[in-house]
Amino acid sequence: MPVAPSLDHIVSLCKRRGFVFPGSEIYGGLANTWDYGPLGVELRNRVREEWWKTFVRKRPDMVGLESAIFMNPKVWEASGHTKSFADPLVDCRSCKQRFRGDKLLEDRLGIEGAAVLKLEQIQKMLTAEKIPCPNCGKSNWTDARSFNLMVKAYQGVVEDEASLVYLRPETAQGIFVNFKNILDTVHPRLPFGVAQIGKAFRNEITPGSFIFRTREFEQMEIEYFVEPGTEREHFEAWKEAVWEWYRSVGISKERLRIREHAKEELSHYSSRTIDIEYQFPWGWGELFGLANRGTFDLRQHQTFSGQDLRYTDPADPTKKFLPAVIEPSFGVDRSVLVFLLEAYTEEEAPTAAGGMEPRVVLKLDPRLAPYDSAILPLSKKEPLVAKAQEVYRMLLQETDLRLDFDVTGSIGKRYRRQDEIGTPRAITIDFGTLGEDDAQGKRDTLTIRDRDTLTQERVAIGELSRRLAL
Ligand SMILES: [Zn+2]
Repeated sequence: MPVAPSLDHIVSLCKRRGFVFPGSEIYGGLANTWDYGPLGVELRNRVREEWWKTFVRKRPDMVGLESAIFMNPKVWEASGHTKSFADPLVDCRSCKQRFRGDKLLEDRLGIEGAAVLKLEQIQKMLTAEKIPCPNCGKSNWTDARSFNLMVKAYQGVVEDEASLVYLRPETAQGIFVNFKNILDTVHPRLPFGVAQIGKAFRNEITPGSFIFRTREFEQMEIEYFVEPGTEREHFEAWKEAVWEWYRSVGISKERLRIREHAKEELSHYSSRTIDIEYQFPWGWGELFGLANRGTFDLRQHQTFSGQDLRYTDPADPTKKFLPAVIEPSFGVDRSVLVFLLEAYTEEEAPTAAGGMEPRVVLKLDPRLAPYDSAILPLSKKEPLVAKAQEVYRMLLQETDLRLDFDVTGSIGKRYRRQDEIGTPRAITIDFGTLGEDDAQGKRDTLTIRDRDTLTQERVAIGELSRRLAL
């Protein structure tokens, strides 16, 4: 396992190569927002696609959904978010900065799980331990109070209570409120799952660490409906499937661990939750969550909506019941960050002159790399560029590969750029391709350079599409 990069290395690479930019940068930015650039959007798309392929398309027991971000506010009453989705907030009386009381305790006292403490307990400990403000160093705290994390918005033209809506804090509820529609239209049989990828919003008091914790983020969630009493086996199966997926796309097992939530730490809807954690540069952090939500959500929505949300046993139509739910929940942004951290490599590579030089290479799994191949004419000379363009057009037509065409700078510079953005193969068109040193029989052949091994192989143009498909 190579040495882990610092977060600064990743932030810098992301900016330099067009993966992630600070949000609204020309206006001085907006705290905690990030925009995905040309390379970042390709990486994100591929993360979503790989996920969807693995967990939806390749499974007979899954279907998809895409629900609206705005939902009837009653949804959040039923789900418990209006009441219980809150963090303990304290203000520093000296500098007026706001903090999460539980996080202050965790950071200063080196403890874990302070989120389970009651507001009064947090209050008492902050004072008793004289916890200093991270901003100004004084210890002068207001009372701890509960701060709801849902982001408010106003739908329609009148800004009054009647049109108050929330930006959804999780994609899960869109699945629960469509449960009946899904039963009535595609008639799935238990156990089955519904998957959704989409944005969610949480007014985190202390966001941070680049794209790790942002107020606007994207989830990949599954609600997996099972017969009550079988939750345990499905929980275990999902735990393994998810672990396997992260391993298969290149995350080293040394940097992954499973953390079981303590009873007091569980969300209001969950009877068991585990996290898969990743060893980030600043320590272990949640990458994925698996929760046993039981029948909580469907029961709540049945009560609040007055609609019958029960599932009918196809073998016995008199048997109607609310299924239990296992919820695997992934973050797109966090996964992207982990893939970048894991792939980032600094190493020595041989130069053309026979020496060695340092290079940065993103050793992304080829399924996640923004580009499959880059087409590079050896130099800017016209016949080389024209031939390279011809090869480029041919590949666009004959394959579904994602291709970059790059003619800017020396060939060495362009190789380094492709290494840094993780392109698995570089295809170089040189004078041999044009037949200018045909004594060596190179006419209509080109070079494929491998990102990781740096080996170069001469291939006939006619063979190229087939070779790249391998
Ligand atoms: Zn302060």
